[in-house]
Amino acid sequence: MTDSFSNLSLAPTLARAVAEMGYESMTPIQAQAIPVVLTGQDVMGAAQTGTGKTAAFSLPLLQRLLKHENPSTSPARHPVRALVLLPTRELADQVAQQIKMYAKYTQLRSAVVFGGMDMKPQTLELKKGVEVLVATPGRLLDHIEAKNAVLNQVEYVVLDEADRMLDIGFLPDLQRILSFLPKQRTTLLFSATFSPEIKRLAGSYLQNPITIEVARPNETASTVEQRFYAAQDDDKRRVIRKVLDDRGIKQAFIFVNSKLGCGRLARSLEREGLRTAALHGDKSQDERLKALEAFKKGEVDLLVCTDVAARGLDIKDVPAVFNFDVPFNAEDYVHRIGRTGRAGASGLAVTLVSPSDARLVGDIEKLIKKKLEVETLQLDTRPAGPAPEKWGERAEDRPRSRASEGRRREHDPRDALDAPHERRGGFRPAPINRDPFFQKPYEPAATDVPPSWEPSGPKTVRSSISANIKPKRKVAALFKSGE
Ligand code: AMP
Repeated sequence: MTDSFSNLSLAPTLARAVAEMGYESMTPIQAQAIPVVLTGQDVMGAAQTGTGKTAAFSLPLLQRLLKHENPSTSPARHPVRALVLLPTRELADQVAQQIKMYAKYTQLRSAVVFGGMDMKPQTLELKKGVEVLVATPGRLLDHIEAKNAVLNQVEYVVLDEADRMLDIGFLPDLQRILSFLPKQRTTLLFSATFSPEIKRLAGSYLQNPITIEVARPNETASTVEQRFYAAQDDDKRRVIRKVLDDRGIKQAFIFVNSKLGCGRLARSLEREGLRTAALHGDKSQDERLKALEAFKKGEVDLLVCTDVAARGLDIKDVPAVFNFDVPFNAEDYVHRIGRTGRAGASGLAVTLVSPSDARLVGDIEKLIKKKLEVETLQLDTRPAGPAPEKWGERAEDRPRSRASEGRRREHDPRDALDAPHERRGGFRPAPINRDPFFQKPYEPAATDVPPSWEPSGPKTVRSSISANIKPKRKVAALFKSGE
C-alpha cells in the first residue's frame, strides 16, 4: 500500500503537523492528488467535502512554497504565492484554519478574507504579507481594488467547490480575479461534480490538467441507506418521528429549503417536545455556534438547517439526515446526504416527498443515475401534537432569479452564509469570524439521556426497515395515483 504520509517525503515541519492531526494514512483523494500537485501540474479533482481534499491540495502546495519561507518581518518578503478561492465564508474559514494547522511549524503565513466582516482587520493582515490567501471572490475583489491584495506573484490558485461558486453566480468575479494572476502558474480545481460548465471553466483556465476522481461524480456513498417516503406537508413531522422511533436513531439533521421554513419547523418540533435547534443564515454566528455545540453535546437531538448553513460543517457520522423539503437543486441532495454515512459508518437519509415534488425527485434520479422508489410509511392514527404552522407560503421562498452577475461592494451577499435562494431578505453580516466548532468532528453525545422522542423504558432498536412500510411503488406511478 502506498497510502502512508511517510511515502511522500514531506518536509519535517509539515510531517510533524500531519502527525499531530492524528492522520494515519492518506484518504483516496490525498493519495492521488498530493503526488500530482507536488509535480506542479494542474489538477481537476472530483471530490466532495469530507474526503480530505483540503489536505490533498494544501499539503503539497505548502511543501512547494517552503522554498520561499523566511523569517523577515518585511511584507515585501511575504507576497501572496497561493490563492484558495471558496464560495462561502464558512468554507473559507474552515479551509484557512486547516491550512494554518498544516503550516504551523513553517514560517509560511496564511490569512483568510471573506465578506460580511469589517475589511480593516483583514487589510492589516494582508498588509503584513501572507504567502497563502484563502478568500471568497467578492471580498477578494474588494481588497484587490483597495490595493490591499497584490496577486502578481501567485504561483498556485485553487478553485475549491467550483461547482458551488458557479451556482452562486461567481463566474464573472472568478474571471476577473484570474485575470490578475500570472499566466505561468499551477491551477487546481475541485468540484463535487463535473458539469459541462465546470468543464468549460477548466478548459479556459487549466493547462493539461490531470483528472482525479475518487468517487464517480454525483455518487452517493454506498454506506448511506436512501429512503424516499411519500408525505403530505402536514404529515412530514410524524414521518420523521416514526422513523426516528422505529430505528432508534438518537440524533439527526433535518434539511429544509428556506430560512423561513427552517425556523418554523424547528419551532413546531420544539412545541411537540423534541429538543431542536435551527441553523440558517439569518442566525447570528453566536446563535449558530450555540446550536451546533448543543447538538454536539447531545443537548439537542434535531438540528433543522438550510443547505449552505450546513454545507461548511465538518461534522461526521451524523446518524441520519432528513430532507423535510426535497432540495431545489439536485446537487444539494448529494451534499445533504453526505452528512451521514461518512468514513464507512452506516447512515440513513430519508427524503419526504409531496406530490408536487415529482420533478425534483426526477432531477435527483438523473443526477445520481439511480431509479428512486417512493414508499409509503404507515403512520399511527394518533395526532402529532399541536397544529403545525402554516406551510402554504413555502413556494414563495423559492428562488425567483439567479444571483445577479454584476460586481458587488462591501457587503457581498454571495459571501454570505446562505445560497441565492435564501437571500430574499437581503444580506445580514454576521459579526464574528472564527468558528471553532468546525474544527471538531461530530461525536455522539457522551450523555445517556435518551432522545426526546423516545418514551422512557427500554427501547428495541430495529435495524431493518419497518414492517409498516408498504411495498415500493415507482415515483411516477405514485404521483399518478395520488393526484
Ligand atoms: P475536508 O474534506 O478537507 O473538508 O476534510 C474533512 C475532514 O477530514 C477534516 O476534519 C480533516 O481534518 C480530516 N482529514 C483530512 N485528511 C485526513 C486523513 N488523512 N486522515 C484522517 N482525517 C483526515
